[in-house]
Amino acid sequence: MNMTEYIDQAEKDLLHTYNRYQIVLEKGDGVNLYDINGKKYLDFVGGIAVFALGYNNKEYNDALKDQIDKLIHTSNYYYNVPAIEAARLVKKASGMDRVFFTNSGAEAVEGAIKAARKYAYNKDHKTDHEIIAMEHSFHGRTMGALSVTGNPKYREAFEPMIGNIRFAEYNNIDSVKALINDKTCAIIMETVQGEGGLIPAKEEFLKEVRALCDEKDILLILDEIQCGMGRTGYMFAWQRYGVKPDIMTSAKALGCGVPVGAFMMTEKVAENSLVAGDHGTTYGGNPLACRAAQKVLDLFEKNHIIEHVRELTPYLEGELDKLVAEYDCIIERRGSGFMQGLVFDRPVAPVINKALEEGLFTINAGPNILRLVPPLVITKDDIDEMIKIVRKALASL
Ligand SMILES: *Cc1c(COP(=O)(O)O)cnc(C)c1O
Repeated sequence: MNMTEYIDQAEKDLLHTYNRYQIVLEKGDGVNLYDINGKKYLDFVGGIAVFALGYNNKEYNDALKDQIDKLIHTSNYYYNVPAIEAARLVKKASGMDRVFFTNSGAEAVEGAIKAARKYAYNKDHKTDHEIIAMEHSFHGRTMGALSVTGNPKYREAFEPMIGNIRFAEYNNIDSVKALINDKTCAIIMETVQGEGGLIPAKEEFLKEVRALCDEKDILLILDEIQCGMGRTGYMFAWQRYGVKPDIMTSAKALGCGVPVGAFMMTEKVAENSLVAGDHGTTYGGNPLACRAAQKVLDLFEKNHIIEHVRELTPYLEGELDKLVAEYDCIIERRGSGFMQGLVFDRPVAPVINKALEEGLFTINAGPNILRLVPPLVITKDDIDEMIKIVRKALASL
Protein backbone atom coordinates (compact mmCIF):
# COMPACT_ATOMS: atom_id res chain seq x y z
CA MET A 1 0.00 0.00 0.00
CA ASN A 2 1.19 3.54 -0.60
CA MET A 3 0.88 6.40 1.88
CA THR A 4 -2.55 7.55 0.69
CA GLU A 5 -3.92 4.01 0.77
CA TYR A 6 -2.64 3.47 4.31
CA ILE A 7 -4.21 6.73 5.45
CA ASP A 8 -7.54 5.88 3.82
CA GLN A 9 -7.45 2.49 5.52
CA ALA A 10 -6.61 4.06 8.88
CA GLU A 11 -9.49 6.48 8.57
CA LYS A 12 -11.85 3.55 8.04
CA ASP A 13 -10.58 1.47 10.94
CA LEU A 14 -9.22 3.70 13.69
CA LEU A 15 -11.57 5.70 15.85
CA HIS A 16 -11.23 9.28 14.71
CA THR A 17 -10.12 10.89 17.99
CA TYR A 18 -7.13 12.66 16.42
CA ASN A 19 -6.88 14.91 13.39
CA ARG A 20 -3.70 13.29 12.18
CA TYR A 21 -1.06 14.82 9.99
CA GLN A 22 -0.99 13.11 6.59
CA ILE A 23 2.12 11.05 7.22
CA VAL A 24 2.72 7.37 7.90
CA LEU A 25 5.91 6.93 9.90
CA GLU A 26 8.17 3.95 9.58
CA LYS A 27 11.33 4.41 11.57
CA GLY A 28 13.43 6.75 13.62
CA ASP A 29 17.11 7.31 14.13
CA GLY A 30 18.61 9.83 16.55
CA VAL A 31 16.61 13.04 16.16
CA ASN A 32 15.22 12.03 12.77
CA LEU A 33 12.05 10.28 11.71
CA TYR A 34 11.39 8.65 8.34
CA ASP A 35 8.04 8.12 6.65
CA ILE A 36 7.24 5.04 4.57
CA ASN A 37 8.44 6.86 1.43
CA GLY A 38 11.83 7.36 3.03
CA LYS A 39 11.38 11.13 3.55
CA LYS A 40 13.46 12.33 6.48
CA TYR A 41 12.21 14.71 9.17
CA LEU A 42 13.94 16.54 11.98
CA ASP A 43 11.84 15.83 15.07
CA PHE A 44 11.19 18.63 17.55
CA VAL A 45 8.22 16.78 19.03
CA GLY A 46 9.76 13.51 20.21
CA GLY A 47 6.39 11.76 20.37
CA ILE A 48 5.36 14.68 22.62
CA ALA A 49 8.20 14.88 25.10
CA VAL A 50 8.71 11.12 25.14
CA PHE A 51 11.80 10.22 23.11
CA ALA A 52 14.33 12.00 25.30
CA LEU A 53 17.24 9.79 24.24
CA GLY A 54 16.43 9.96 20.54
CA TYR A 55 15.30 7.09 18.35
CA ASN A 56 17.08 3.82 17.84
CA ASN A 57 19.42 4.23 20.79
CA LYS A 58 21.50 1.07 20.65
CA GLU A 59 22.01 0.50 24.37
CA TYR A 60 18.33 1.09 25.06
CA ASN A 61 17.27 -1.23 22.23
CA ASP A 62 19.71 -3.92 23.33
CA ALA A 63 18.42 -3.81 26.90
CA LEU A 64 14.85 -4.26 25.66
CA LYS A 65 15.81 -7.10 23.32
CA ASP A 66 17.61 -8.82 26.16
CA GLN A 67 14.56 -8.41 28.41
CA ILE A 68 12.19 -9.73 25.72
CA ASP A 69 14.19 -12.93 25.62
CA LYS A 70 14.15 -13.20 29.42
CA LEU A 71 10.72 -12.17 30.67
CA ILE A 72 8.21 -9.67 29.30
CA HIS A 73 5.50 -9.90 31.88
CA THR A 74 4.74 -11.26 35.26
CA SER A 75 2.08 -10.40 37.81
CA ASN A 76 2.67 -7.85 40.53
CA TYR A 77 2.02 -10.72 42.94
CA TYR A 78 5.69 -11.64 42.31
CA TYR A 79 8.85 -9.53 42.40
CA ASN A 80 10.89 -8.92 39.27
CA VAL A 81 14.42 -7.54 38.99
CA PRO A 82 13.81 -4.68 36.48
CA ALA A 83 11.02 -3.25 38.67
CA ILE A 84 13.26 -3.42 41.74
CA GLU A 85 16.14 -1.75 39.88
CA ALA A 86 13.92 0.86 38.22
CA ALA A 87 12.29 1.77 41.54
CA ARG A 88 15.69 2.27 43.12
CA LEU A 89 16.77 4.59 40.29
CA VAL A 90 13.47 6.52 40.31
CA LYS A 91 13.88 7.09 44.04
CA LYS A 92 17.45 8.25 43.57
CA ALA A 93 16.48 10.65 40.77
CA SER A 94 13.44 12.07 42.53
CA GLY A 95 14.30 11.90 46.21
CA MET A 96 10.85 10.42 46.80
CA ASP A 97 10.48 7.31 48.99
CA ARG A 98 7.93 4.98 47.37
CA VAL A 99 7.13 4.21 43.75
CA PHE A 100 4.11 2.70 42.01
CA PHE A 101 4.59 1.96 38.29
CA THR A 102 1.71 2.58 35.88
CA ASN A 103 1.12 2.19 32.14
CA SER A 104 0.55 5.84 31.32
CA GLY A 105 0.56 9.37 32.65
CA ALA A 106 -3.18 9.46 33.19
CA GLU A 107 -2.96 6.34 35.33
CA ALA A 108 -0.20 7.90 37.40
CA VAL A 109 -2.52 10.86 38.06
CA GLU A 110 -5.35 8.48 38.98
CA GLY A 111 -3.09 6.79 41.52
CA ALA A 112 -1.95 10.12 42.94
CA ILE A 113 -5.57 11.21 43.44
CA LYS A 114 -6.46 7.93 45.13
CA ALA A 115 -3.47 8.15 47.45
CA ALA A 116 -4.41 11.70 48.44
CA ARG A 117 -8.03 10.78 49.13
CA LYS A 118 -7.03 7.75 51.17
CA TYR A 119 -4.60 9.85 53.20
CA ALA A 120 -7.40 12.27 54.08
CA TYR A 121 -9.87 9.45 54.70
CA ASN A 122 -7.50 7.83 57.17
CA LYS A 123 -7.45 11.05 59.18
CA ASP A 124 -11.19 11.69 59.59
CA HIS A 125 -13.04 8.80 57.88
CA LYS A 126 -15.08 11.29 55.89
CA THR A 127 -15.84 10.95 52.19
CA ASP A 128 -16.34 14.55 51.15
CA HIS A 129 -12.74 15.64 50.56
CA GLU A 130 -11.91 18.26 47.97
CA ILE A 131 -9.00 18.66 45.59
CA ILE A 132 -7.81 21.96 44.21
CA ALA A 133 -6.58 21.83 40.61
CA MET A 134 -5.48 24.62 38.26
CA GLU A 135 -7.18 26.28 35.34
CA HIS A 136 -5.62 25.46 31.96
CA SER A 137 -4.00 22.36 33.41
CA PHE A 138 -3.72 19.03 31.63
CA HIS A 139 -3.51 15.76 33.52
CA GLY A 140 -4.84 13.15 31.06
CA ARG A 141 -8.00 11.71 29.56
CA THR A 142 -9.26 9.10 32.02
CA MET A 143 -12.14 10.18 34.25
CA GLY A 144 -10.12 11.02 37.36
CA ALA A 145 -7.32 12.75 35.47
CA LEU A 146 -9.88 14.57 33.33
CA SER A 147 -11.67 15.72 36.48
CA VAL A 148 -8.60 17.71 37.53
CA THR A 149 -7.89 18.95 33.99
CA GLY A 150 -8.68 22.66 33.80
CA ASN A 151 -10.03 22.71 30.28
CA PRO A 152 -13.87 22.67 30.23
CA LYS A 153 -13.85 21.78 26.52
CA TYR A 154 -12.23 18.41 27.31
CA ARG A 155 -14.62 17.72 30.21
CA GLU A 156 -18.06 18.93 29.29
CA ALA A 157 -19.47 16.02 27.27
CA PHE A 158 -18.26 13.56 29.90
CA GLU A 159 -19.80 15.10 32.98
CA PRO A 160 -20.34 14.29 35.74
CA MET A 161 -16.68 14.17 36.68
CA ILE A 162 -15.43 12.78 39.99
CA GLY A 163 -16.77 15.19 42.59
CA ASN A 164 -15.31 17.91 44.76
CA ILE A 165 -12.70 19.37 42.42
CA ARG A 166 -12.16 23.14 42.60
CA PHE A 167 -10.18 25.13 40.07
CA ALA A 168 -7.79 27.90 41.07
CA GLU A 169 -5.86 30.28 38.87
CA TYR A 170 -2.31 29.05 38.23
CA ASN A 171 0.35 31.33 39.72
CA ASN A 172 -2.25 33.20 41.79
CA ILE A 173 -1.93 32.29 45.46
CA ASP A 174 -5.02 34.26 46.52
CA SER A 175 -7.21 32.20 44.22
CA VAL A 176 -5.83 29.04 45.87
CA LYS A 177 -6.36 30.42 49.38
CA ALA A 178 -9.95 31.31 48.51
CA LEU A 179 -10.72 27.64 47.78
CA ILE A 180 -9.04 26.03 50.77
CA ASN A 181 -11.28 24.73 53.53
CA ASP A 182 -11.35 21.86 56.05
CA LYS A 183 -12.22 19.37 53.32
CA THR A 184 -9.27 20.17 51.06
CA CYS A 185 -7.06 17.09 50.85
CA ALA A 186 -4.74 17.93 47.96
CA ILE A 187 -3.55 20.56 45.52
CA ILE A 188 -2.53 19.23 42.12
CA MET A 189 -0.64 21.10 39.44
CA GLU A 190 1.97 20.77 36.73
CA THR A 191 5.29 22.32 37.75
CA VAL A 192 5.42 23.71 34.22
CA GLN A 193 2.05 23.73 32.44
CA GLY A 194 2.48 21.97 29.09
CA GLU A 195 -0.74 21.78 27.07
CA GLY A 196 -1.96 24.89 28.85
CA GLY A 197 0.71 27.01 27.21
CA LEU A 198 4.27 26.27 28.42
CA ILE A 199 3.88 28.23 31.65
CA PRO A 200 6.35 27.57 34.48
CA ALA A 201 5.11 27.91 38.05
CA LYS A 202 6.41 31.07 39.68
CA GLU A 203 8.84 30.27 42.46
CA GLU A 204 6.98 32.46 44.94
CA PHE A 205 3.67 30.77 44.06
CA LEU A 206 5.02 27.24 44.45
CA LYS A 207 6.66 28.11 47.77
CA GLU A 208 3.47 29.66 49.11
CA VAL A 209 1.42 26.66 48.02
CA ARG A 210 3.92 24.39 49.78
CA ALA A 211 3.65 26.48 52.94
CA LEU A 212 -0.15 26.37 52.85
CA CYS A 213 -0.06 22.60 52.40
CA ASP A 214 2.34 22.20 55.33
CA GLU A 215 0.20 24.39 57.56
CA LYS A 216 -3.00 22.45 56.90
CA ASP A 217 -1.63 18.95 56.17
CA ILE A 218 -2.83 19.16 52.57
CA LEU A 219 -0.89 17.05 50.07
CA LEU A 220 0.91 18.77 47.22
CA ILE A 221 0.79 16.70 44.02
CA LEU A 222 3.14 17.83 41.26
CA ASP A 223 2.53 16.45 37.78
CA GLU A 224 5.94 16.06 36.14
CA ILE A 225 4.75 13.91 33.27
CA GLN A 226 5.77 16.40 30.60
CA CYS A 227 8.17 18.77 32.37
CA GLY A 228 10.07 16.08 34.25
CA MET A 229 12.84 13.71 33.15
CA GLY A 230 15.44 16.34 32.44
CA ARG A 231 13.39 18.50 30.12
CA THR A 232 13.90 21.74 32.03
CA GLY A 233 17.53 21.04 32.89
CA TYR A 234 16.58 19.33 36.16
CA MET A 235 15.62 15.71 36.51
CA PHE A 236 12.29 16.95 37.81
CA ALA A 237 11.28 20.56 37.37
CA TRP A 238 10.41 21.05 41.05
CA GLN A 239 14.04 20.42 41.98
CA ARG A 240 14.91 23.84 40.62
CA TYR A 241 12.56 25.49 43.12
CA GLY A 242 13.56 23.46 46.12
CA VAL A 243 9.87 22.73 46.69
CA LYS A 244 9.30 19.03 47.22
CA PRO A 245 5.88 17.52 46.54
CA ASP A 246 4.23 14.91 48.76
CA ILE A 247 3.17 12.95 45.70
CA MET A 248 4.44 13.32 42.15
CA THR A 249 3.72 11.79 38.78
CA SER A 250 6.00 10.86 35.89
CA ALA A 251 5.51 9.16 32.51
CA LYS A 252 6.30 10.26 28.94
CA ALA A 253 10.14 10.25 28.84
CA LEU A 254 10.37 7.83 31.79
CA GLY A 255 10.10 4.91 29.37
CA CYS A 256 11.32 6.74 26.27
CA GLY A 257 8.71 5.00 24.15
CA VAL A 258 7.79 1.93 26.15
CA PRO A 259 4.56 2.79 27.98
CA VAL A 260 5.54 3.35 31.59
CA GLY A 261 4.51 5.92 34.15
CA ALA A 262 4.83 6.19 37.90
CA PHE A 263 3.52 7.98 40.90
CA MET A 264 5.84 8.46 43.80
CA MET A 265 5.29 9.63 47.34
CA THR A 266 7.06 10.43 50.55
CA GLU A 267 7.26 7.83 53.31
CA LYS A 268 4.79 9.83 55.38
CA VAL A 269 2.14 9.62 52.66
CA ALA A 270 2.96 5.99 51.93
CA GLU A 271 2.53 5.02 55.57
CA ASN A 272 -0.84 6.71 55.77
CA SER A 273 -2.54 6.00 52.43
CA LEU A 274 -2.64 3.07 50.03
CA VAL A 275 -2.24 -0.43 51.47
CA ALA A 276 -2.46 -3.92 49.99
CA GLY A 277 -5.72 -4.27 48.10
CA ASP A 278 -6.27 -0.52 47.61
CA HIS A 279 -4.74 -0.14 44.18
CA GLY A 280 -3.36 -2.29 41.40
CA THR A 281 -2.64 -2.83 37.73
CA THR A 282 -2.00 -5.91 35.62
CA TYR A 283 0.65 -4.46 33.31
CA GLY A 284 2.03 -1.63 35.44
CA GLY A 285 5.58 -2.29 36.55
CA ASN A 286 6.07 -5.30 34.33
CA PRO A 287 9.64 -6.40 33.57
CA LEU A 288 9.75 -5.04 30.00
CA ALA A 289 8.40 -1.60 30.92
CA CYS A 290 10.65 -1.38 33.96
CA ARG A 291 13.70 -2.50 32.05
CA ALA A 292 13.02 0.47 29.75
CA ALA A 293 12.75 2.90 32.67
CA GLN A 294 15.84 1.39 34.28
CA LYS A 295 17.89 1.80 31.09
CA VAL A 296 16.58 5.32 30.50
CA LEU A 297 17.61 6.46 33.97
CA ASP A 298 20.94 4.71 33.58
CA LEU A 299 21.61 6.42 30.23
CA PHE A 300 20.52 9.81 31.55
CA GLU A 301 23.33 9.63 34.05
CA LYS A 302 25.90 8.01 31.82
CA ASN A 303 25.32 10.38 28.89
CA HIS A 304 25.01 13.52 31.05
CA ILE A 305 21.64 14.35 29.53
CA ILE A 306 20.71 17.00 32.10
CA GLU A 307 24.04 18.79 31.73
CA HIS A 308 23.51 18.79 27.97
CA VAL A 309 20.06 20.37 28.31
CA ARG A 310 21.43 23.05 30.62
CA GLU A 311 24.34 23.78 28.32
CA LEU A 312 22.24 24.16 25.19
CA THR A 313 19.18 25.89 26.63
CA PRO A 314 20.58 29.45 26.37
CA TYR A 315 21.34 28.89 22.70
CA LEU A 316 17.87 27.49 21.95
CA GLU A 317 16.23 30.34 23.86
CA GLY A 318 18.44 32.92 22.17
CA GLU A 319 17.60 31.68 18.68
CA LEU A 320 13.87 31.58 19.48
CA ASP A 321 14.05 35.08 20.97
CA LYS A 322 15.49 36.29 17.67
CA LEU A 323 12.37 34.99 15.93
CA VAL A 324 10.17 36.79 18.46
CA ALA A 325 12.03 40.04 17.78
CA GLU A 326 11.87 39.62 14.02
CA TYR A 327 8.31 38.51 13.37
CA ASP A 328 5.34 40.63 14.36
CA CYS A 329 3.03 37.61 14.41
CA ILE A 330 5.00 36.07 17.32
CA ILE A 331 4.07 37.68 20.62
CA GLU A 332 6.46 35.94 23.00
CA ARG A 333 8.51 32.88 23.89
CA ARG A 334 7.54 30.85 26.95
CA GLY A 335 8.79 27.76 28.69
CA SER A 336 11.82 26.27 30.30
CA GLY A 337 14.77 24.25 28.98
CA PHE A 338 13.79 22.03 26.08
CA MET A 339 10.12 22.72 26.64
CA GLN A 340 9.53 25.90 24.68
CA GLY A 341 6.56 27.63 23.10
CA LEU A 342 6.22 30.49 20.66
CA VAL A 343 2.98 32.37 21.25
CA PHE A 344 1.43 33.61 17.99
CA ASP A 345 -1.27 36.20 17.41
CA ARG A 346 -3.01 33.66 15.17
CA PRO A 347 -3.47 29.89 14.78
CA VAL A 348 -0.20 28.06 14.25
CA ALA A 349 -1.57 25.18 12.16
CA PRO A 350 -0.31 26.70 8.87
CA VAL A 351 3.19 27.08 10.34
CA ILE A 352 3.21 23.47 11.57
CA ASN A 353 1.98 22.16 8.21
CA LYS A 354 4.48 24.16 6.20
CA ALA A 355 7.33 23.08 8.51
CA LEU A 356 6.24 19.49 8.08
CA GLU A 357 6.38 19.86 4.32
CA GLU A 358 9.91 21.19 4.76
CA GLY A 359 10.89 18.24 6.94
CA LEU A 360 10.41 19.46 10.52
CA PHE A 361 8.08 18.13 13.22
CA THR A 362 6.62 20.72 15.57
CA ILE A 363 3.36 20.65 17.49
CA ASN A 364 0.87 23.10 18.96
CA ALA A 365 -0.21 23.72 22.55
CA GLY A 366 -3.66 25.22 22.12
CA PRO A 367 -4.43 26.85 18.78
CA ASN A 368 -1.94 29.74 18.95
CA ILE A 369 1.19 28.28 20.50
CA LEU A 370 3.93 26.49 18.59
CA ARG A 371 5.40 23.92 20.97
CA LEU A 372 8.92 22.49 20.81
CA VAL A 373 9.64 19.44 22.98
CA PRO A 374 12.51 17.77 21.11
CA PRO A 375 14.57 14.75 22.10
CA LEU A 376 17.00 15.93 24.78
CA VAL A 377 19.96 14.85 22.65
CA ILE A 378 19.55 17.55 19.99
CA THR A 379 22.69 19.49 19.03
CA LYS A 380 23.37 23.09 18.10
CA ASP A 381 23.20 22.09 14.43
CA ASP A 382 19.73 20.60 14.95
CA ILE A 383 18.60 23.88 16.52
CA ASP A 384 20.01 25.82 13.56
CA GLU A 385 18.23 23.52 11.13
CA MET A 386 14.96 23.85 13.08
CA ILE A 387 15.21 27.66 13.06
CA LYS A 388 15.95 27.67 9.33
CA ILE A 389 12.83 25.65 8.57
CA VAL A 390 10.61 27.64 10.94
CA ARG A 391 11.78 30.80 9.16
CA LYS A 392 10.85 29.27 5.83
CA ALA A 393 7.44 28.33 7.20
CA LEU A 394 6.92 31.84 8.56
CA ALA A 395 7.90 33.40 5.24
CA SER A 396 5.15 31.42 3.54
CA LEU A 397 2.42 32.74 5.85
C1 LIG B 1 0.73 13.85 28.67
C2 LIG B 1 0.37 14.30 30.02
C3 LIG B 1 -0.47 13.54 30.86
C4 LIG B 1 -1.15 12.29 30.40
O1 LIG B 1 -0.26 11.27 30.10
P1 LIG B 1 -0.76 10.02 29.21
O2 LIG B 1 0.40 9.10 29.19
O3 LIG B 1 -1.11 10.58 27.85
O4 LIG B 1 -1.95 9.45 29.88
C5 LIG B 1 -0.69 14.00 32.15
N1 LIG B 1 -0.13 15.13 32.59
C6 LIG B 1 0.69 15.89 31.81
C7 LIG B 1 1.30 17.12 32.38
C8 LIG B 1 0.95 15.51 30.50
O5 LIG B 1 1.72 16.28 29.72
